Formats: sequence, structure tokens, C-alpha cells
Amino acid sequence: MIELHGIRKSFGTLEVLKGIDLNIEKGEVVSIVGPSGAGKTTLLQIIGTLYKPDAGSLLINGTDVLALNSRKLADFRNRHIGFVFQFHQLLPEFTALENIMIPGMIARRSHGELRQRALELLQFMGLQDRAEHKPNELSGGEQQRVAVARALMNQPDVILADEPSGSLDSHNKAELHQLFFELRDKLGQTFVIVTHDEELAQLTDRTIHIIDGHISVPPSILPENEASTI
Ligand code: ATP
Repeated sequence: MIELHGIRKSFGTLEVLKGIDLNIEKGEVVSIVGPSGAGKTTLLQIIGTLYKPDAGSLLINGTDVLALNSRKLADFRNRHIGFVFQFHQLLPEFTALENIMIPGMIARRSHGELRQRALELLQFMGLQDRAEHKPNELSGGEQQRVAVARALMNQPDVILADEPSGSLDSHNKAELHQLFFELRDKLGQTFVIVTHDEELAQLTDRTIHIIDGHISVPPSILPENEASTI
């Protein structure tokens, strides 16, 4: 569903990604882990079409996204990719319901349809009685669930999450992780999650280790004496 081949990215003289090949299937929950500065967020931003790689190809559901012009790319991103960040990035002056509706408004869907979908998403998140609350009237866990609902608004092919539980306490963290797997099981939702949280990484279907600009295969799954960075 998501296919990356030979992805390279440098910032000035700093070579961050040195040739990444990766296929992600529909319904997979994949975690990306690695040391600080390894290039995890850079890789996520490339999958999210926010950064253009210097070389390589990226197909999302069969679309060669790197071939799209900037207007088509922005439209593709809004319709096909959902984002969840460490700090929810909800708009403070909008209610929970309005925040969830934003990606649908950008996609110019009808107001009635958007409102209905946003209410259904709030219900799914167990937040139906919080529809008219502004973000500062919600707890951290509730804010993050609204952010997940917003990411789901346009039924994206994939949700990309960067340290989604990084600012949550352990109870809200566990609830958010549970929510991801519920969405995978009920909707077949695909997730790519950058995380430092080992517990979350262990729960995911697959963990991608980024080390020194490459995907590293952990020694445990290589034949003896072949453990190396590939
Ligand atoms: P962390 O776990 O600390 O968030 P990371 O693995 O996500 O790290 P990235 O954020 O992808 O790492 O950054 C990889 C390297 O690229 C870092 O050295 C960072 O300083 C550098 N970098 C990232 N974005 C830019 C940019 N826009 N301009 C210049 N350098 C950048």
C-alpha cells in the first residue's frame, strides 16, 4: 500500500537517509524506532509528502506522489493521509467538533455530511458529550483522541503519528495505544508511528529500526554471523 524505494534525504551536508526501501501493507501498524537524530521524523515527513526526498520513489495506494504538482499533492495529502503529532495541534478557538471537521472542509465536502461524520467519530472516541468544548476545556487524553478523530475525518489510507503518546501520562498513553489497535481491527486502518516508547513498539505488527540512515535488521532475525546494518 505504501512503497518506498531508494529514499535518500540530506540537509546541507548532513546525509540523514541513505537509501530506504520499505513496503507497508494495508491494515498494518508499523512503528519506526531508532536513536535521536536517526531520521525517523524525516522519514515520516517524506511518507507524509511534507518533505521531498533527494532521490527514490514513493507510491501510496498506487499513486506516484512525487510526480504530483504542488496543488494536486496538497489535495492528495489532505484526502489520503492523516497526521497525529505529539502535541495535538488542535486549533484553540475551534470546538472539538469543528476541529474534527477541518480536513473535510479543506476537501470541500458538504457541511451536513461533515458534521454527521464528525459526530460519529466523537461517538467512536467516547467524546460525544465534548463536541462543543474548546481544546483547553479537554484533558490531554481527550485532546489527543480529538486529534485522532480529525486524522480519520477523510478516511485516510494511512495515519502517520509522531510520538503520539509522548505528552500523555501512562493511563492516557495506554488508552491511546488501545485506540490505534481498535481502529486497525475495526476499520483496517494503517498506522505508521514514530516512537521512543518501547512498550508501544512491542505491540505493533512490525518495528522498523533506523540506524545511520538505513533500516537495520535486528540480529535476532538474521542467520547467525550475518547480523549487520543493511
Ligand atoms: P528524534 O528522535 O530526536 O526526534 P529523529 O530520528 O526523528 O530524532 P529527525 O528529526 O528526522 O530525527 O532529524 C534527523 C537529523 O536531521 C537531525 O540531525 C536533525 O537535526 C536534522 N534535520 C531534521 N530536519 C531538518 C531541517 N529541516 N533542516 C536541517 N536539518 C534537519
